[in-house]
Amino acid sequence: MLEVKNILFSYNKAPVLKNISFSVNTGDHLSIIGESGSGKSTLLKLLYGEFDLNEGAIFWNGTQILGPAYNLVVGYDFMKYVAQEFDLMPYTTVAENIGNFLSNFYPEEKQARINELLEVVELTHLAKTKVKLLSGGQKQRVALARAIAKQPEIILLDEPFSHIDNFKKQSLRRSLFKYLKEKHITCIVATHDKDDAISYADNMIVLHDNEIIANNTPQQLFDNPKTPLIASFFGEFNTIEPYGIVYAHQIKVVEKSNLKATVKRAYYKGHYYLIEADLKGETVFFEHDSELEEEVQVSLSVTK
Ligand code: ADP
Ligand code: MG
Repeated sequence: MLEVKNILFSYNKAPVLKNISFSVNTGDHLSIIGESGSGKSTLLKLLYGEFDLNEGAIFWNGTQILGPAYNLVVGYDFMKYVAQEFDLMPYTTVAENIGNFLSNFYPEEKQARINELLEVVELTHLAKTKVKLLSGGQKQRVALARAIAKQPEIILLDEPFSHIDNFKKQSLRRSLFKYLKEKHITCIVATHDKDDAISYADNMIVLHDNEIIANNTPQQLFDNPKTPLIASFFGEFNTIEPYGIVYAHQIKVVEKSNLKATVKRAYYKGHYYLIEADLKGETVFFEHDSELEEEVQVSLSVTK
């Protein structure tokens, strides 16, 4: 298992991360979420041993992860890290990039493995294409395949689908996370995309103001968001007394209630409309199955 014990870290003077403690069981999937600048990438780099900690310690199955002051070559064989900015070999093909770290001793097995990896990241049709000719999203998929090529025990992914378009994202996500689960590869994913986390993470940690403000299952965090920041990760929400944080889907239009609102705008969302309305001088958002006209009065009910 991965154990992170009371990390304090700063690049310069002010701490970027403090009091960071958590653990991840072998084979589990942890999502690290937080706003831009909250320290997600820094935390992944610390887990990889890229920097020296000011305080605290990190262990993978009892082996301490050490920074450059104690470990000449950054990184460990059992761990792979895919950075936000991936670096590939541009003048060789996709297949060669993926096979680069695989042994040449059994060429047939090597080829079979490359084919398997190409399928996981859905790049079979581009196997023979030079990497420099690929789009950003395609390069990101090559980087992911390279990272899992040698079956690490633990993989660190920094916004792994950020360059990948919506057409491909859903299926690639399913395929990669399914693969990692099947192979019992422990997986830590930094993300600001709820879809990377909600269906796949066993646990999520939320970074805010240099600290972990929550560590729980996606379901617990979704059902009971302790702060507006956590709710905002999952979707449109309101703060309405006396209910507290209320998601847009938890408000319904009813025949009669004391919550009277005036519709201001309807946003088409595909299978529903997001309605912006005025509730006693405050803006509220709720979901509705049809478009509502501006200035129409509605009665609302909250179901949590
Ligand atoms: P995130 O990945 O959540 O967007 P980062 O870990 O990249 O956040 O950054 C956390 C904070 O650390 C930010 O304030 C950022 O400006 C700062 N930071 C990141 N990298 C460096 C660096 N190499 N040197 C100094 N400050 C850095
Ligand atoms: Mg980052």
